Amino acid sequence: MGKSKKLAILGAGESGVGAAILAKKMGYEVWVSDKGKVAGKYAKALVEHGIDWEEGTHTLDRILSADEVVKSPGIPDDIDLIKRIRGKGIPVISEIEFAGRHTSATTIAITGSNGKTTTTTLTHSLLKNAGLDVGLVGNIGFSFARQVAEKDHEYYVIEMSSFQLDGIADFAPDVAVLLNITPDHLDRYDYQLDRYVDSKFRITQNQTDNQYFIYCLDDQLITSRLQQTNITAKCLPFSQYQVLAEGAWIEDQKLIINLKKKRFEMFIYDLALQGRHNLYNSMAAGIVARIFDLRKDGIRESLKNFQNLEHRLEFVAKVHGIEFINDSKATNVNSTWFALETMDKPVVWIVGGVDKGNDYASLVPLVKKSVKMIICLGNDNRKIHEAFSRHVDLIVNTGSAQEAVKVSYHFAQKGDVVLLSPACASFDLFENYQDRGWQFKNAVKAL
Ligand code: ADP
Repeated sequence: MGKSKKLAILGAGESGVGAAILAKKMGYEVWVSDKGKVAGKYAKALVEHGIDWEEGTHTLDRILSADEVVKSPGIPDDIDLIKRIRGKGIPVISEIEFAGRHTSATTIAITGSNGKTTTTTLTHSLLKNAGLDVGLVGNIGFSFARQVAEKDHEYYVIEMSSFQLDGIADFAPDVAVLLNITPDHLDRYDYQLDRYVDSKFRITQNQTDNQYFIYCLDDQLITSRLQQTNITAKCLPFSQYQVLAEGAWIEDQKLIINLKKKRFEMFIYDLALQGRHNLYNSMAAGIVARIFDLRKDGIRESLKNFQNLEHRLEFVAKVHGIEFINDSKATNVNSTWFALETMDKPVVWIVGGVDKGNDYASLVPLVKKSVKMIICLGNDNRKIHEAFSRHVDLIVNTGSAQEAVKVSYHFAQKGDVVLLSPACASFDLFENYQDRGWQFKNAVKAL
């Protein structure tokens, strides 16, 4: 890699600008191109670092004269521009791949359809509380490349989306975690589930036998793919239903990790993150901690005191005996399934938004069991009515978070839970899932 290597970066968001800063530092001839408008803070960072860039267009000739292209995960692979770049034999990589080349840190990469941010943050806090020099980067919103450029760490916990995995060539995490695979983002994979599974398994593709692959043994899509795939890394499964020779599992209300002939145990009631889905997240993070031989007492303390993240089964308030929970981040059916499964009181369920091709059938038994009323919060609620009208007495349409909260408060009784767990994206009525969660919380606080 000579100093004159030309790098074109497509997309001037968190990852693109991070890659540009690192490239500049490493002596590349770097240029950034964004077809849209570049956000103020990123434009400022590019100027401050003396990096050449354009916005509002992609100048094709200049892109095609690069030796290598770093593509933002938001840009699909099948657009004409990317095809033309590849057609000329120019490698197209992700920012994670690029950053991985320029650090010798130990890397822990975490992916899955649901639970990535929770498990990445939990793992990071376990390592940090044990005194390790560890960075928290990736899909979570902080660029890996920028961190490497500005203050490299000894360890990184990296949240990786499938789009980020699509852009890796040689990146091999020392520890890879695959939490689960349920249909999501299929629009980017020609509606072929197999291609989405391929993408998730890319996390293991370059691993060697001194590295680790942690995965969920209860996930059918993962286990059936494993039967057809040779994994070179050392495999460490976790399960809620099977006792394992090595890995993590649940037995007699305890979370158990067995690794390197040493056993770790802790009561599941002591875990900060409650709910069945969070048992998986805690098991995965706990295995990572044991791989690095962190002390058992410290792991127990961290798993016990972890502060849950906003918008994920977040307790908001109790008003006249009615509990309000914000699970706005539940943007697909699977995450809402776990939310409903966790409820042990009668539920007034607020659901709806932009449907990404949802099949609600798996929720019917849980709705029959716990939901007394459904409040739709979206522009088009037909599918929700069709799926559940035979199973609950009352379904009401609302058009804002304020209205949904008011209606829920009117119908709920002491001892009920009002749960916002939409199973849908938020873009019809809100800016994003955070906006939806905040508006919900503000409306509850105004009651
Ligand atoms: P991601 O980063 O993968 O989107 P988050 O940790 O932000 O995942 O959680 C997203 C939603 O999924 C939340 O509603 C959360 O309660 C739920 N969730 C968290 N962990 C899991 C899991 N292991 N399986 C299914 N759902 C989960």
